[in-house]
Amino acid sequence: MLSDPVTVIKGIGEKLAADLGEMGIHTVEDLLYYFPYRYDVFEIKPLSELIHEDKVTIEGRIIHEPSLNFYGKKKSRLSFSIEVEGVAVKAVMFNRAFAKKQLNPGDTLTLTGKWDAHRLQITVSNYKKGLANQQSAIQPMYSLKGDVTNYKVKKAVRNAIKTYQDDVPELLPEQYLESYKLPNRVNAVSTMHFPGSRVDLKHARRRFTYEEFLLFQLKMQMLRKIKRESTTGNAQHYESAALGKFIDSFPFSLTKAQGKAMNQILADMKSPYRMSRLLQGDVGSGKTAVAEACLYASITAGKQGALMVPTEILAEQHFQSLTETFGQRASIVLLTGSVKGKKRKETLSAIENHEADIVVGTHALIQDDVFFNDLGFVIVDEQHRFGVEQRRALREKGLNPDVLFMTATPIPRTLAITAFGDMDVSVIDEMPSGRKAIETYWAKENTFERILQFIAKRAEQGEQAYVVCPLIEESDKLDIQNAVDLYHQLEGFYSGSLQIGLMHGRLATDEKDAVMKQFANGDVDILVSTTVVEVGVNVTNATIMVIYDAERFGLSQLHQLRGRVGRGEKQSYCILIADPKGETGKERMRIMTETNNGFELSEQDLKLRGPGDFFGKKQSGLPEFRVADMIHDYKALETARQDAEEIIENGLLENNSAFRQLQIYLEDGTVLQEKLD
Ligand code: ADP
Ligand code: MG
Repeated sequence: MLSDPVTVIKGIGEKLAADLGEMGIHTVEDLLYYFPYRYDVFEIKPLSELIHEDKVTIEGRIIHEPSLNFYGKKKSRLSFSIEVEGVAVKAVMFNRAFAKKQLNPGDTLTLTGKWDAHRLQITVSNYKKGLANQQSAIQPMYSLKGDVTNYKVKKAVRNAIKTYQDDVPELLPEQYLESYKLPNRVNAVSTMHFPGSRVDLKHARRRFTYEEFLLFQLKMQMLRKIKRESTTGNAQHYESAALGKFIDSFPFSLTKAQGKAMNQILADMKSPYRMSRLLQGDVGSGKTAVAEACLYASITAGKQGALMVPTEILAEQHFQSLTETFGQRASIVLLTGSVKGKKRKETLSAIENHEADIVVGTHALIQDDVFFNDLGFVIVDEQHRFGVEQRRALREKGLNPDVLFMTATPIPRTLAITAFGDMDVSVIDEMPSGRKAIETYWAKENTFERILQFIAKRAEQGEQAYVVCPLIEESDKLDIQNAVDLYHQLEGFYSGSLQIGLMHGRLATDEKDAVMKQFANGDVDILVSTTVVEVGVNVTNATIMVIYDAERFGLSQLHQLRGRVGRGEKQSYCILIADPKGETGKERMRIMTETNNGFELSEQDLKLRGPGDFFGKKQSGLPEFRVADMIHDYKALETARQDAEEIIENGLLENNSAFRQLQIYLEDGTVLQEKLD
């Protein structure tokens, strides 16, 4: 049985078993799935193709007796010649005096080492007697502990496969193996340890990648189902007719994608289960409109709604636009850190006695003295800006309210599901029609004056521009100084012909408000700003976004900034002023100029960084896989997710014998139990 201790395997005694135990290998099964962490590939090439100073592998026949020299303390040098393609090649080996006895004239040898093309000499790091064949050309390398060697692992695995191959269960239904052309499990195990060729190895890896993802997705989705069915939220009986009218009052009709997302949310609201849903959509895709409609639905069901956003500016802007959109339909209040004294008291009491239907605010919403009368619907905008605790705190202000998280950080959907485990995900993957793609350019700093002239020209047409200035890490103060300097520079350049505004984080709220209003009204032509404009601000007349020192921003941040323009029907421009030093920086600029699609961009971003960087250390909590790599094998993850969904939805585990092994495996499900606790 696979669960037998490793000591049942021929050649594994107590000592080796103990060392293997250190490596986490206790059973036969552990051993079989202890895959190499890398492979050394020895590919034999003709001498003429070997590159000076490269690590190479050659094979040949020993011409004459190796000679051994000792020097220094215990140091030795073994040198000999081998014939390769009819040419004599010199080989040197350091500190391996013992090899002399094994190497005799006439023997064939495969040598790996550093190549010196000028002297036709190889400095040997590894040698093997005999000619290399396919079998030995790819060497598995295991991570090892104690006295365990690669050789010992290989031997043990070989014996284990020989004896136990009939016990290795095939988890995947035949139909999957066929349609994805995956090798069966026992062959794939064997190939992982002893790959015959690169191609075989690739397929074995593909198989385990898919298997790991499928098992993971199945567990996640089963877990979600159980969780979902065990929460009892409030079924919100909203008034469909009133909601329809509300939506008709928008100055546009919803896009198909908006409609679909809205229906998914409404279905959750109607159900007795507590909603926990992530709404993803690129900047400008119209998430706010969807959120507004759902807030309204909740109000018609007699509940209160809350919208939490990360910054005061954004809270104020949302407050204003909601107030306009809702008109007489709802009483809306604003709660931020700057709402103080009497005003704050009034606001709190309005929230508590349900005079307020909707509360828009920042973190101020989750303070202890905020009590809702009947909070039914919670929206957290730019959810990644809040910690898990903060999100939970807001949810706990109500009795199982439905919660909608919104994000414009377009994480590939599958990764989002993986990273945010127990949330459902809706995606708005379509832009409102009539939008022109933003043209993005990458410019050098010495073209700055030309850019300013370009802005002047557009401003004559009544258009406006943002100039976002250098971001200097960890230093708010310097950021602001930069903004101030840039502001003066622009004032000097335009000398009164254009109105320049200045915005940064240190301004008092009413000052920010005033500048923002001036910009929104068109009284200010150019807004010089630190990154505070990053989120949410909506000025449809702004058509130019200039980002200074763009190489200091990450891709998704650049994309967010760019999303501040292109919100109306006029052609918009994004100009990145950057002089990146490294390749990654250049690559980023290139990607920005080539794609406007946030999802595509985020996939590229993921490839440039790792998943940990992408989500931030705190949120990373991503699972580790033996073979699979969430970034690299992203497509397989998506396939597995879809398959898992189909399996769960159609109850295939229970009802289809082809899925029997999978079911047995999952029933073992310790992972499920852990997550539920
Ligand atoms: P997001 O929050 O996703 O970045 P917003 O909701 O702020 O996007 O919408 C961006 C702009 O597009 C707003 O001016 C909004 O009024 C407008 N808008 C939203 N939905 C539509 C639509 N279906 N058709 C046209 N314009 C829309
Ligand atoms: Mg928004």
